[in-house]
Amino acid sequence: MSTEKSSAIKKKNQNYKLKYSDSLEDTKHIKLLPQYDLFINGKWTKSKKYFNTINPANEEIISKVAYASETDVDAAVNSAEKAYNNVWKNMPAKERGKYIFRIARMIQEKAREFAVIESLDCGKPINESKSFDIPTVISHFFYYAGWADKLEYAVHNKDPKSIGVVGQIVPWNFPLLMAAWKIAPALACGNTVVIKSAETTPLTLYKLAEIIQESGLPQGVVNIISGDGFTGSCIVKHPKVKKIAFTGSTDVGKIIMKAVADTDKKLTLELGGKAANIVFEDASIDDAVEGIVKGIYFNQGEVCCAGSRLLVQESIRDTVIKKLKDRINKLVVGNPLNKNTDVGAINSKAQLNKINELIKSGTREGSTLYESKCTLPGKGYWCKPSLFTNVAASHRIANEEIFGPVLTVLTFRTPSEAVEKANNTCYGLSAGIWTDKGSKALKVMKKIKAGVIWTNTFNKFSPASPFGGYKESGFGREGGIQGIKEYLS
Ligand code: NAD
Repeated sequence: MSTEKSSAIKKKNQNYKLKYSDSLEDTKHIKLLPQYDLFINGKWTKSKKYFNTINPANEEIISKVAYASETDVDAAVNSAEKAYNNVWKNMPAKERGKYIFRIARMIQEKAREFAVIESLDCGKPINESKSFDIPTVISHFFYYAGWADKLEYAVHNKDPKSIGVVGQIVPWNFPLLMAAWKIAPALACGNTVVIKSAETTPLTLYKLAEIIQESGLPQGVVNIISGDGFTGSCIVKHPKVKKIAFTGSTDVGKIIMKAVADTDKKLTLELGGKAANIVFEDASIDDAVEGIVKGIYFNQGEVCCAGSRLLVQESIRDTVIKKLKDRINKLVVGNPLNKNTDVGAINSKAQLNKINELIKSGTREGSTLYESKCTLPGKGYWCKPSLFTNVAASHRIANEEIFGPVLTVLTFRTPSEAVEKANNTCYGLSAGIWTDKGSKALKVMKKIKAGVIWTNTFNKFSPASPFGGYKESGFGREGGIQGIKEYLS
């Protein structure tokens, strides 16, 4: 080979390398501590036990975090109660609002850092944490900051009353976003907070604690702790906690409901889902295919309102499935910090095992599995984007929340059959409708029992829109004016 030719190849390879490393998010300036203590009464407080939080994309330990015991929960609740009685409940609403505005602006200044940490801890693509998670967190803080001195207009009551100490428990799929949905309205309404992150994703909540400390928010108004289900149960049963806001699985939601049944605690439950995404033959097929992809492969399908049950009209079934298969093969699966990644790592080994078990049940029960032809990284927790056809309504994959990048395809002939199948679930969180006919969308929408119904789009969120479920997807609403009502007595 001539030297000219070989140096041309070398240059091409170098360019390729440059391009590849350019697409990796720079983590040099991300500040993460080797250990995070509990954030109680405005101070970092040591606990007796610590556990590791790992990066699910490579199984490496990121940091150690404190495990909050019953005594720690008690300290956090007492600090929140003291702050409520001595400072927060009597603070003029406008002043409360200023603090929330300040927190929103400070998160905005550190948006990139938050996005990178969320991707590291959750396994979600950096593209999504940058364009969805963190901007939506910020917009919730801004939105509720604006409501703080206008509560009387939200509830048509000249003297709206706060509740007191609220206990908040969040899951691992959108850690900071679920925390923002809870903390911002609670503070705007004059309550103080004890919030617990999920076992596998504590880091962005502790980053938020750093901001809260820096913002000068009075000590004890927000207490942030980490731990497991036992820690959560200590918050739930604590007598000084007057309201529980929980987001997580339906099973745990039921446990919490029983635990507060003979108390006067207020409760909101945001639980699981098995949303129908209904595609009629008159829909724009290409738009619908994009919507189906967004509905199920966004955040690896680890989304409570994921469009996990595709209901496609029989006449267009083959076309839609062919296009979906092509599209699945174009999804980039891999390093969450690669800006081109569409599908990142599954959050934990336990979740991956749960997904794989349900995939096996699908094939065992007679459905046909189609998986992306992508190659998965060797280390970490990964699942190929996939879809199931030939699914019967009785199959587990048609009924249970898979919470992974796995789509179940069912068909229907008439709009009434679509409605019947969409409602044939114990859940009622969300749904999607794809059609060219507005009147058809409205008619179908009215008959579907789901808290959020999107038309010709999917997974769109606004802080002004309420979100929540029917049936076993929970009760109460987060977001919008409805979200304010949940934090007033
Ligand atoms: P999970 O129910 O296992 O855990 C959620 C949280 O509850 C965690 O912080 C956990 O430590 C805590 N917890 C566990 N046992 C508890 C107990 N006995 N008392 C108090 N707290 C306890 O759920 P997960 O696996 O973290 O999250 C996935 C689930 O969350 C899915 O079912 C998903 O649909 C649901 N989810 C719902 C929404 C929504 O808005 N409806 C949003 C996101 C996720």
